[in-house]
Amino acid sequence: MIVVMNLGASVEDIQEVEEKITQFGYSVHRSTGKKRTILGAIGLPREEVKELLEGIPSVEKVVLVSSPYKLVSREFKKERTVFKVGDVEIGGDKIVLIAGPCAVERRSFLQAAEAVKKAGADILRGGAYKPRSSPYSFQGLEEEGLKIMAEARELTGLPLITEVLDQHSIEIVAKYVDIIQVGARNMQNFKLLKELGQLDKPVLLKRGMSATIEEWLMAAEYLLSSGNERVILCERGIRTFETYTRNTLDISAVPVAKELSHLPVFVDPSHGTGKWKWVPPMSLAAIAAGADGLLIEVHPFPEEALCDGSQSLVPQKFLQMIEPLKGVAQTVGRTL
Ligand code: PEP
Ligand code: MN
Repeated sequence: MIVVMNLGASVEDIQEVEEKITQFGYSVHRSTGKKRTILGAIGLPREEVKELLEGIPSVEKVVLVSSPYKLVSREFKKERTVFKVGDVEIGGDKIVLIAGPCAVERRSFLQAAEAVKKAGADILRGGAYKPRSSPYSFQGLEEEGLKIMAEARELTGLPLITEVLDQHSIEIVAKYVDIIQVGARNMQNFKLLKELGQLDKPVLLKRGMSATIEEWLMAAEYLLSSGNERVILCERGIRTFETYTRNTLDISAVPVAKELSHLPVFVDPSHGTGKWKWVPPMSLAAIAAGADGLLIEVHPFPEEALCDGSQSLVPQKFLQMIEPLKGVAQTVGRTL
């Protein structure tokens, strides 16, 4: 059972409720968020205990949630989560476009930023710390890359998203960007998730390449139970026996995650397919399936890109895909 304390609940109020929960034979897990405290009563849910706890004035509500993820679930929160990053509304009617190069590179980033802004992107992406399969591949410009990103925000007004690889770089990354990305390889880095849960910044959580939807939602639960409610789920393709595409983009994860959770669900067709020419059709499919946003890699000279050039659209191709996307958005009752 999940016990949601009132916004103004004092330490004494919280302790009193914890004692009551223990007396009923449950163990307690306390999550102290920026705004409110949530107590998890671990044990079999009982309707009469729910009613007794709801009678305590410092308790706002008690929710009986059957799924293993609690705060992330639709059972816990019926209405969809909508929040703003700068002027951009995430999870609302308007579909959000995140675009930019895989990695920040000195020569191309500002040009890419201006091009995606012109084409209609809402948020600018770029990696300053890159999780590469090979230690000999380009690992990112680190703080220098973050500075270039900040310059691009000045130039375009677009909010920034970048990936954080480990706990040590959270502080520096949070200083420069507006949304923190947790990559597929780090989806189950629980220590990292707990720390990001305490940060006052939205987090985009990619689905691990071999994670089930339930494992993905459990990873999101780490963020919410540590106090961060501004979480975006992002499907980016999973490993299957198919090798023709880089990953198999699981479009069905979109309606499933949206049915199970109130969190916004985005799709990354660039990593999902690994090839720029399959990005437009899979973007159309993602929007048709109900995605709240897309994350797309765009690079002005993909053949020179230090990372993921083959899946990066040139700005012209990115621009060309916007009109058809608008058509599908309208068909499913959304705007873009
Ligand atoms: C990326 O967005 O550049 C990235 C590394 O993504 P993923 O974690 O999905 O592989
Ligand atoms: Mn990439």
